[in-house]
Amino acid sequence: MVLRGQAPIERAPLVGADLPSPEPGPFEVRVRVRACATCRTDLHVIEGDLPPRRLPLVPGHQIVGTVDALGPGATRFRAGERVGVAWLRSACGTCRYCTSRRENLCESSTYTGWTHDGGYAEYCCAPESFIYAIPHAFDDAEATPLLCAGIIGYRALERSQVPDGGRLALYGFGSSAHITLQVARHRRCTVYVVTRNRTHRRLALDLGAEWAGDTSVPLPVKVDSAIVFAPAGQLVPVALRDVDKGGTVALAGIHMSDVPAMAYEPHLFWEKRLTSVTANTRGDGEALLAVAAAIPIRPRLHRYALADANRALGDLGADRVDGTAVLIVE
Ligand SMILES: [Zn+2]
Ligand SMILES: [Zn+2]
Repeated sequence: MVLRGQAPIERAPLVGADLPSPEPGPFEVRVRVRACATCRTDLHVIEGDLPPRRLPLVPGHQIVGTVDALGPGATRFRAGERVGVAWLRSACGTCRYCTSRRENLCESSTYTGWTHDGGYAEYCCAPESFIYAIPHAFDDAEATPLLCAGIIGYRALERSQVPDGGRLALYGFGSSAHITLQVARHRRCTVYVVTRNRTHRRLALDLGAEWAGDTSVPLPVKVDSAIVFAPAGQLVPVALRDVDKGGTVALAGIHMSDVPAMAYEPHLFWEKRLTSVTANTRGDGEALLAVAAAIPIRPRLHRYALADANRALGDLGADRVDGTAVLIVE
């Protein structure tokens, strides 16, 4: 499914096309894609919230499949092994960020389904050092949302500094939040979910949230930490007000509408911290996959055929998906 020009998803900008099989470059593998989850970032790339980095483009960055061919020098995986491909496709390895294990901040990073073709396709290529072995605990489709929704949520949880057993608020309850909630519950956190979508509130309670409501009702308690998943800047002061003294708010999205002006007290004084989350390190990815298999996390999936990618993303954009919309590649 190819994007030739950025446009609103209602105009079905992804078009089915027959492309030649990509050839893996040095130290790359080619993956026979089995499933690829959708992500709000795909919508940002398709609709133009993020600038185009390459057109035409095959989007998709939560890919599970099997290694199909090895490029020159690639030795980490063997043909037939099951792997996952995530958003961060490569980093330079030499800049001051890369050499301090912060490759998520690399000056010359590349991205699956943005700077390079991604997984809305039967085949895609990726550098072997940036892909992941997929634990046996998950089938192909189940593992897909772990690769961005899961990993970014995991990094957001770490950045939020919520203590084990602490109180955590989540704003927005899509694919990433519904996995992050399960990790937070595993850490014995009490979780409060704020979303305007009633179905999402029900899912949150099903998954063990202590409380779910919308912004018209105050949280029943002050929380230690908060993560804002919704790309809505007006939630930032709401979250900062809801955290307790010394609390941290982490913003998990790659794109957000403008943050409104805020007052010093009650939003920032009392040593409140505000931070964002930028992609992830490979360490985050390995850690999330390990804990996801140990729990084990059970993502709520809605399956679509690859050819229905526009419909899947339309449902995601209109908040009609509970959990994750996954494209199944036959
Ligand atoms: Zn770098
Ligand atoms: Zn993503």
